Amino acid sequence: MEEKQNLMDKIAVLCKRRGFVFQSSEIYGGFASCYDFGPLGVEMKNNIKKAWWEEMTKFQNLPNGRIVGLDAAILMSPRIWQASGHLTAGFADELVECKKCHHRFRKDFLEKNKCPDCGGQLTKPRKFNLMMKTFIGPVEDEASSAYLRAETCQGIYVNFLNVLNSSRLKIPFGIAQIGKSFRNEITPGNFIYRTREFEQMELQWFCHPKEADKFFEYWKKARLKWYLNLGVKKENIRLKQTPKKELAHYAKSAFDIEYKFPFGWKEVEGIHNRGDWDLSNHSKHSGQDLRFFDENKKEKYFPHIIETSAGADRSFLLFLVDSYCQVKGGRTKTTQAVKEEEVVLKLSKKLAPIKLAVLPLVKNKTELVKKAKEIYRLLKPYFVCQYDELGSIGRRYRRQDEVGTLFCLTIDFESLKKNDVTVRDRDSMKQERIKIGDLPKTLKEKLEK
Ligand code: ATP
Repeated sequence: MEEKQNLMDKIAVLCKRRGFVFQSSEIYGGFASCYDFGPLGVEMKNNIKKAWWEEMTKFQNLPNGRIVGLDAAILMSPRIWQASGHLTAGFADELVECKKCHHRFRKDFLEKNKCPDCGGQLTKPRKFNLMMKTFIGPVEDEASSAYLRAETCQGIYVNFLNVLNSSRLKIPFGIAQIGKSFRNEITPGNFIYRTREFEQMELQWFCHPKEADKFFEYWKKARLKWYLNLGVKKENIRLKQTPKKELAHYAKSAFDIEYKFPFGWKEVEGIHNRGDWDLSNHSKHSGQDLRFFDENKKEKYFPHIIETSAGADRSFLLFLVDSYCQVKGGRTKTTQAVKEEEVVLKLSKKLAPIKLAVLPLVKNKTELVKKAKEIYRLLKPYFVCQYDELGSIGRRYRRQDEVGTLFCLTIDFESLKKNDVTVRDRDSMKQERIKIGDLPKTLKEKLEK
């Protein structure tokens, strides 16, 4: 247990030290459970979002049915949240408060009926709404109140007709969206696992009611495969069915994709068969007919929805945890480098924030430095690339390994004569010499392999 906590601490420390994730508002003492993504973090998060987006909009091999994108506003009519049930009991957690220390907890997270912090007695549970409220315009009153969206999918449902008509689509089809959501979580924690502001990557798949079960099965498999294809270890990820009594009000059936975090098996993505709940409900509340008319069959119906809803920040943490390798005693037995522990972030090629590092063998030889900078300038427009000349070459390799850089290019004295560099592979540590002129093409091939 201690070792597992230790691992989360180590990852958080690495994240801060190397610029993946910072505590928000740190110079003002921090702002609870809010985080900022630093230079490496933003590259990696963008890579995750790009991998998801491309998977959805380019690589799905469905015999028919297209997936198109959407970027809906965060602020929407509060009537949407009335209709979806978010302003009523549907989106409220049960909250209890300790009578002694006044700390608050989600009832469903407690193992015993007493305060986990001080052992004090707890109040009766009451509903606590997770929606974050704000005001539109200069007057703060009920009429001007609005909410930051608590899930991105509502923006998709209310645009169902717009997308259908403007893109001349037919059922089945999907709408993909990536965007921020906000929930006033009572117990945020575990670093970026549960925060109050987070990003979701959601697909809403609209299909004929008779095909819903088939597509539900399809999406369960497809989504699990996405993580596996990005290198996640099979034994660390699973699909878990949500028991009937725990289903959300909108769901007919649901599975979670769970990951084995150091703090236990936890959800990273929800896959829901939502039936016709959303479209029929928005039809009722808005007065607009959101049914689909099939011209061939002369049939009018509410499409059923299969939803896949993943967290960009949660999967960021998943990919970090899964790729974090600690090598006791170090990987290079020949150097007398510090023999404590080396860290290698074995991120997949798609997700690694930095693809290449360009390193002159030593920094006090002007010719080497000049050549290395030339190569860096040559490659920078095509690859996310770093130039580093500080410290011994072994130390620089380790610095790149711990952030997952895929290839280190070293410019040595032979490079000056032969116009080539050594390319070191992060995982095998093998080195090969490649002509400078061939670098863009060869490296592109290596990265796409
Ligand atoms: P949980 O049970 O963990 O609160 P949920 O079942 O409410 O999650 P959904 O509403 O299904 O979550 O949201 C889909 C996905 O959005 C989750 O699987 C997760 O990846 C992400 N997500 C939800 N809430 C948060 C949060 N507070 N912080 C970070 N990511 C979140």
